Amino acid sequence: MKAEVVSMTEENLDMEAIRRGGEILKKGGLVAFPTETVYGLGGDALNPQASRKIYAAKGRPSDNPLIVHIARMDDLAPIVSGITHEAMILAEKYWPGPLTMILPKSDLVPLETTGGLDSVAVRFPSDRIAQELIKAAGGYVAAPSANTSGRPSPTTAQHVEEDLGENIDMIIDGGQVGIGLESTIVDFTEDVPVVLRPGYISLEMLQDTLGDVRMDKGLIASDSKVHPKAPGMKYRHYAPRADLSIVEGPEEKVVETISRLALQAEAQGKKAGIIATDETRDRYPSGLVMSIGSRKEEETIAHHLYEVLRDFDQSEVDFIYSEAFYTPRMGQAIMNRLLKAAGHKVIHVE
Ligand code: AMP
Ligand code: MG
Repeated sequence: MKAEVVSMTEENLDMEAIRRGGEILKKGGLVAFPTETVYGLGGDALNPQASRKIYAAKGRPSDNPLIVHIARMDDLAPIVSGITHEAMILAEKYWPGPLTMILPKSDLVPLETTGGLDSVAVRFPSDRIAQELIKAAGGYVAAPSANTSGRPSPTTAQHVEEDLGENIDMIIDGGQVGIGLESTIVDFTEDVPVVLRPGYISLEMLQDTLGDVRMDKGLIASDSKVHPKAPGMKYRHYAPRADLSIVEGPEEKVVETISRLALQAEAQGKKAGIIATDETRDRYPSGLVMSIGSRKEEETIAHHLYEVLRDFDQSEVDFIYSEAFYTPRMGQAIMNRLLKAAGHKVIHVE
């Protein structure tokens, strides 16, 4: 089956196509759509068969639960069996937006959607195309990132087509997404709210609002026996085809080291890619250099991360050397994804 591709913008919605997308979802089919974070692969969250189809299309392990997307505040209560006061505060402050909350699930949500867990992940996206599609589908759309499991998440409809074009019913092309990294996930099933996945909404922002919020220990300890709580965080993710390493340290040394590694690779007849920034791109004498954005605007780095990784797949490089991006606000989220993409291969220089 080849997916039908329809195009629209948030300002100029094609309500007829959205209605058809909603019908496909109601019948158990799959529709990919834009959100403000990345493109999602949607299926009816209350239909176990649809959830199974999502896992199959992505090649996703079935113990890795899906996020249920809603488009009305009132639709939260029926799918959860309790909402804490703190969760309500976050919903009011950040919904619609790039925030996912884990809450105890109600019987309405099938275990197929939650990967067998008795909790459910819920998000209310701000993208208008996503909102209208969710409403047209009946209110509850399970939607993981619309990529083949393990590959970089899609930030354009072309990325979705590359990975899933043959396996799903419809792709809604709403142009390039805004944020470019998946939502922040906050778990409310423990005594203290815990961040299971960093995102655009940072730990500091959450602490400013709620006071005590912790980072999942499994996220901070990369080499310990502590596993991340979100099942999906343990899998290798976002990996480009080439061998990716991150070089970390003072800027001068990083540029020097990456330049030397790229020259070495080329001397052996290999192709080297370099992930640089607007500030450093002209300082690399060899290698295929791509700028990911500007350190002065960290949003640009988040926005281009997955695109750059996919572009390097297209240019068939053998090695990729990347600068590190511990930027003030989104650095935690950016480096969480980049470290995973690199399988935690980091070269420290001083
Ligand atoms: P994706 O759908 O690709 O954005 O990934 C969703 C992430 O949310 C994965 O890392 C899941 O493991 C995580 N997740 C979804 N539901 C739950 C849940 N009930 N408890 C913990 N983590 C969850
Ligand atoms: Mg994903």
